Amino acid sequence: MKSVQVTGSSGQSTILIGERLENLMACCPVKLPVIITDVNVYERYRQVFPPAEVIVINAGEKEKTLDTVRHIYEQLLALEADRGCFLIGIGGGMVCDITGFAATTYMRGVRFGFVATSLLCQVDAGIGGKNGVNLGGYKNMVGTFGQPEFVICDPCLLKSLPPVEIRCGLAEIVKHAAIADKNLFSYLETHYDRALALDARVIEKLVHDSVVIKADIVNRDERETGQRRKLNFGHTFGHGIEKTTGASHGEAVSAGMVLACALSVKKGSLAARDARRVSALLEKLGLPVRLEFNGAAVLDAIRKDKKRAGSQIHFVLLRSIGEALVEKISIEELARILAVRQQDDPNISS
Ligand SMILES: [Zn+2]
Repeated sequence: MKSVQVTGSSGQSTILIGERLENLMACCPVKLPVIITDVNVYERYRQVFPPAEVIVINAGEKEKTLDTVRHIYEQLLALEADRGCFLIGIGGGMVCDITGFAATTYMRGVRFGFVATSLLCQVDAGIGGKNGVNLGGYKNMVGTFGQPEFVICDPCLLKSLPPVEIRCGLAEIVKHAAIADKNLFSYLETHYDRALALDARVIEKLVHDSVVIKADIVNRDERETGQRRKLNFGHTFGHGIEKTTGASHGEAVSAGMVLACALSVKKGSLAARDARRVSALLEKLGLPVRLEFNGAAVLDAIRKDKKRAGSQIHFVLLRSIGEALVEKISIEELARILAVRQQDDPNISS
């Protein structure tokens, strides 16, 4: 078992990689916590839950709403949960995001922790202290900062995930490697097949290195003024594609990273051969390097993105494998990349 510390102004978080759900109570500071989980996780793992009150919510990103938060608040009231209560989100990104939001707002904030059951949550969503819910069709429009006291990343929980969910987690690991760690990127290039087969040693290394990268960035910049923006690599286009096509987050981010690489090459910051390495790795991992989408609709979604500053977007480009930079890019320039991609111009094909 390895642990990584995340330090934010909103608290300190210990990420436990290789710890087991079965040992949850060793991490929990109270005797009777309140567990928040979704129906799928509850059905599969209820028999290994510790003694606790359990609030079960519906599964799926569509349920990450203020209505579900209200349901959680009401359940907490019914359980007479007071300021001394401790909430534990057991689930993927949706459960952890909403548990963190409920915990940081209920009675002006109670203590909480996570057991991350998806690879995406273990390497990304569960780490960093951002909690939130969707509003009006926009992701994470309402949220708080607040660090979970612990995040358990149990590799055994990944075995029950459908392959598409594994690939989605791997997309975020590729993102972390691409922006911050060329050695991790090379490791992925040589171990992709063992990663897809969920080889325990490989997965633990990937989760650990990925958490270290995210923790390092969050430790320097919890509130996303500079460094943390780099974590959005592939996500400007990715969110737009996800929203307008219904592709999964990881698949949309994969295609988004390829577009961001194309823009990086076009801006002269990235060598074309490095852009090809990113595409090649994503393909090896079974992730899409291009998706069918309506460029105008994607652009419209980007325009409404909360990270927009005036007519420009803070956009993450690559300088090389393992190094990112953030630049303000105009909407028009993004439009050109989308339009050109739609016509499938071989000049920027990666
Ligand atoms: Zn993501």
